[in-house]
Amino acid sequence: MMLTIDEQFEQLAETIKKNSPGCDLEKVRTAYEFARDAHGPQRRKDGQLFVSHPIAAAVIVAEMGLDTDSVIAALLHDTIEDTKITHDEIAKRFGETVAELVEGVTKLTRVVYTSKEEEQMENLRKMLMAMARDIRVIIIKVADRLHNMRTMEYQSPEKQREKALETMEIYAPIAYRLGMQKIKTELEDLSLKYLDPIGYKEIQEALEARKEESAEFFERTQEHIRKRLSEVGIKSEVYGRIKQIYSIYRKMFGGNKEFSEVLDLYAFRVVVDDIADCYNVLGYIHEMYRPIPGHFKDYIGTPKPNMYQSLHTTVIGTEGIPFEVQIRTWEMHHTAEYGIAAHWKYKEGIQGRENSEEKFAWIRSLLESQQDQDAQDFFRTLKFDLFADEVFVFTPNGDVKNLPAGATPIDFAYSIHSAVGNSMSGVTVNGRIVPFDHVLQNGDIVKVLTSKSSSGPSRDWLGIVKSSEARNKIRQWFKKEKREENIAHGKLSFESEVKRLGCQMADIMRPENLPQLLKKVSFPTLEEMYAAIGYGGASAQKMANRMREELRLIEKTGQQKELPPETTAFTAPQQQQQQQHAIHGIIVEGIDNCLTKFSRCCTPVPGDDIVGFVTRGYGVSVHRRDCRNYLDSVADLQNPDRNRWIKVSWARDTGGETYQTGVSITARERAGLVLDVATILGALKMKLSSITARDMGDGIATVFLTVEVKSRDELATAIARLSGIPGVHDIKRSGVKDKP
Ligand code: MN
Repeated sequence: MMLTIDEQFEQLAETIKKNSPGCDLEKVRTAYEFARDAHGPQRRKDGQLFVSHPIAAAVIVAEMGLDTDSVIAALLHDTIEDTKITHDEIAKRFGETVAELVEGVTKLTRVVYTSKEEEQMENLRKMLMAMARDIRVIIIKVADRLHNMRTMEYQSPEKQREKALETMEIYAPIAYRLGMQKIKTELEDLSLKYLDPIGYKEIQEALEARKEESAEFFERTQEHIRKRLSEVGIKSEVYGRIKQIYSIYRKMFGGNKEFSEVLDLYAFRVVVDDIADCYNVLGYIHEMYRPIPGHFKDYIGTPKPNMYQSLHTTVIGTEGIPFEVQIRTWEMHHTAEYGIAAHWKYKEGIQGRENSEEKFAWIRSLLESQQDQDAQDFFRTLKFDLFADEVFVFTPNGDVKNLPAGATPIDFAYSIHSAVGNSMSGVTVNGRIVPFDHVLQNGDIVKVLTSKSSSGPSRDWLGIVKSSEARNKIRQWFKKEKREENIAHGKLSFESEVKRLGCQMADIMRPENLPQLLKKVSFPTLEEMYAAIGYGGASAQKMANRMREELRLIEKTGQQKELPPETTAFTAPQQQQQQQHAIHGIIVEGIDNCLTKFSRCCTPVPGDDIVGFVTRGYGVSVHRRDCRNYLDSVADLQNPDRNRWIKVSWARDTGGETYQTGVSITARERAGLVLDVATILGALKMKLSSITARDMGDGIATVFLTVEVKSRDELATAIARLSGIPGVHDIKRSGVKDKP
């Protein structure tokens, strides 16, 4: 018997009263009348007035306990698409939120799908989420689809298959991820009915054949569990149910099993008041029935990404029939049935209606607690602007392309193929010609026109595109196709950069410098470097900077080239020695043009009391007077070398040069010691050439460092500062004799 539409509306009113008592029923009634009048005498394929469909969708939305705006939007969801009603009219009568919701559902309705591989499906799902912007839009759309699937029998076989496939591939996964278990299950079963009618029927008949047997089994087992739990004083409700057809189907055809081999055909649900009771119930169930090893899952301790929580276990019943038991609290039960919608309802009750940021706060907190990467990626999409950094558009044959937000037709063209981008001559978006810098919107259908006579990409495009893929492909093209132009461009920008840095091109071009400079920037020739700068593969600024550095180095080291390798670092050129202020500031008494070097053992600095040792062939080596080697050498009267020590002194002017010298710090071993040392030297603007730390055992560490100082005074300041570091026992200069 068919209900009149007024009767159907009364059913909706009842559902609302039961599930969301806070709902404004009068406003909903007005919306119903509005929708009824708008759709007029229009009828559905099942013979009912069209408005019966939005009423049914609204019932589904109300069952989930959604707010007034959502129920009204569900009632009006087909008005923009199918009647003369406009967004503005809805906004005027029911508020902007309702109008936006209806508009959102309409947009999703207009998206056309074709079956694609999994990646495309994922993009489509994401696109729908992105387009929806408000989660309620998705929930209403899912309700709309659920009712359409329930009444699919009146459609043509082609339409049935097409909608069933779309439901299976798009809407059931969305419902699942939003945690709407109940709806997901129904969507899958309804889809299966049209996708594999034979398989569906087989299972249905097998279940039918066992109906009586099942009913008895349910009755007995339910009673058994109920009795036991009440004996131990646990308040619970126990339900039995046959598993979903689609899940049996998957186990049979996916796992290649017979119907009789499908283990947990039967399932029971025990719903209790709190979490502690969940675990208690589990204990009693395992006491009553033998658990099958490996079938216990604790989704309370580790919730599923879609918020689902329950304990699952599979046990063998007294008759040897296996069954699954799901144990959960009432709150978990509600979340399992309605998922995100349930949360919506809870949050709505607690917080103000207008604060949408707050409404989504729970998603963020959910996100933070999620370990699963996929789930994170998905939930990232749930916030209003969570997809703000992406845009999804269609190719003319229905593929979805995922591009960065703000992407242009150029990005789109290169995402198809570089050849498409390179020969692009025009573009249409939703059938209209647009400029190349047009910003693409979600759901746009983009068609690129190409031409063989196209002159290729323009350099301006590099500033327009948003995706690195497009940018790289454009650069690639310039690299290959426009070498001459690149060289000219690159040369210009390099030269202006060199000028900006105050360098001379002449210095760079000098034959004795150029090879070293090119090596520094890793290009075989200047032309190659210009070409790279020209197509964007190298930066003019970086190249010029590196060359400048290298030029400075050449100038600095150029003077020392002829010196013997061993003395290079520490020896003054002989000519300058005559002028009495040698580069290293050492005056050797009685000897002019003397080669000098600083000893590695005690590393003297200006101000130190010094002494010279005449080496065999390497000039005079300069030591400190407190150097261990000097003291040992002169102390040994038998040592033939003790006469080689001569008097040396510092020149008055050491030219502001720095001298490397070694210092060792003994300190209590602790984390951060080396860092403290480096920090103090940094604060003193003292250059640190090397620093190493060694664990000496007994909680003692020694830090060895080589610093560059201008004088003994400067070094003394540094040592004073270093000795203030917590835990430092002792600071010694290198080469000093250990105290006995
Ligand atoms: Mn509809």
